[in-house]
Amino acid sequence: MNLVNRTKRQVFETGDIIMRQGEIGENAYLIEEGQVEIFIVTNGQEQVLGRRGTGAIVGEMAIVDNKVRTANVRALAPSTLLAISREDFGRRLAHADPVMKMVMQVILARYRAVLHGTDSSHESAEDAEKSGNVSQKAFETIRMTHDFREAILGYQLRLHYQPIIEMANKRVVGFEGLMRWHHPIKGMISPATFIPLAEDSGLIVHASRWALREGVYMLNRLRVEHGLPEDYFISLNFTGLDLSAEDFADNVSENLQGTGISPSRIKLEITERMLIDDPEGAISTLKRCRDAGLTVALDDFGTGYSSLSYLHRFPIDTMKIDRSFIVEMMTNPASLTLVKTIISLAKGLGMSVVAEGVEKQEEADLLSAHNCDMVQGYLFGRPMAEPDLILWLNNRD
Ligand code: C2E
Ligand code: CA
Ligand code: CA
Repeated sequence: MNLVNRTKRQVFETGDIIMRQGEIGENAYLIEEGQVEIFIVTNGQEQVLGRRGTGAIVGEMAIVDNKVRTANVRALAPSTLLAISREDFGRRLAHADPVMKMVMQVILARYRAVLHGTDSSHESAEDAEKSGNVSQKAFETIRMTHDFREAILGYQLRLHYQPIIEMANKRVVGFEGLMRWHHPIKGMISPATFIPLAEDSGLIVHASRWALREGVYMLNRLRVEHGLPEDYFISLNFTGLDLSAEDFADNVSENLQGTGISPSRIKLEITERMLIDDPEGAISTLKRCRDAGLTVALDDFGTGYSSLSYLHRFPIDTMKIDRSFIVEMMTNPASLTLVKTIISLAKGLGMSVVAEGVEKQEEADLLSAHNCDMVQGYLFGRPMAEPDLILWLNNRD
């Protein structure tokens, strides 16, 4: 996909023609700012159908079907437009709930009937503007998606690293790479906000590939620039969309070539959700990754749609116990039972175990007593930018 073209915010001056009747349209446009006029030309006569302002969509039919534009659109004032491509829309629609899809189709059919069957000149410009407006939430989603696309191209993403410690000898064995977004206006945005957005828009695939490269280079710098000889691993988060890319495993291997980093030092963190959405696809991709020497961790274990039946079918090396169980295990005997059970289940299946979100020494001690292999949490270290991580590692020695 051509990321650069799709990133463009298009700016029009007053009088500029934005789209032409009879053309095949690739995009719908969200009017970020400005005002436009929709008109048709019959027998050389212009007939204005309506106006749209900030927050409205124009050209939306093109992304639903392949038919030609039914009207012209002209800027009435300097206007900035954000494109929503057919591809982007198609992907969102493919993921949509079937009821949603049906309702959308009904609405589209009625809209067409009105457009072709009746004269819309009785509709006031104001009414037309209102009926075309998207909700505040949809507006924000589209805007943030554009900003995120710019973030990938504009070096606004950072990877922070949280240490993972082996319980038996208290040594740092690896790091989890966690993405951070420094938005030029909004400041630091949490991954809880931008990861879902990146997933919905498909941009996660670009972001994940960036994170992988960044993580691999960081491991290399630890040795080459900072003289840290340990073979730390890096654990990186991936989504179902990442894994479903045909070249996922090859891409990971390509990134390692020539770096001197062994594939066994790359852990792919995936969630139960991905295994349930497309089990066959996940098995085959993960097997290819395993064959290439990579390792796989099952993230947030116990929070999702846990099903014991799939555990032995998937090539998983490490189980990560979700923070919610660790938080509760000191006060809630049932949570402690779950933690103990997950540890023995993982061990029984030949997997190693990481406990996430360890904040208190008592928690670490209890986990150690129950043979948990590794821990990760604020008690040991928060996710840190690379320079802070180097200081942290050097201070530990
Ligand atoms: P996660 O994969 O479960 O990552 C662990 C989260 O727990 C991180 O939040 C980390 O900062 C936080 N954490 C670690 N130790 C503690 C602790 O002791 N106490 C508390 N309260 N929190 C702790 P963060 O960095 O905000 O990331 C949130 C989620 O966003 C991640 O959850 C992951 O699902 C997603 N995410 C982050 N980076 C990436 C990425 O590069 N790719 C993908 N696909 N998802 C990412
Ligand atoms: Ca994770
Ligand atoms: Ca987790």
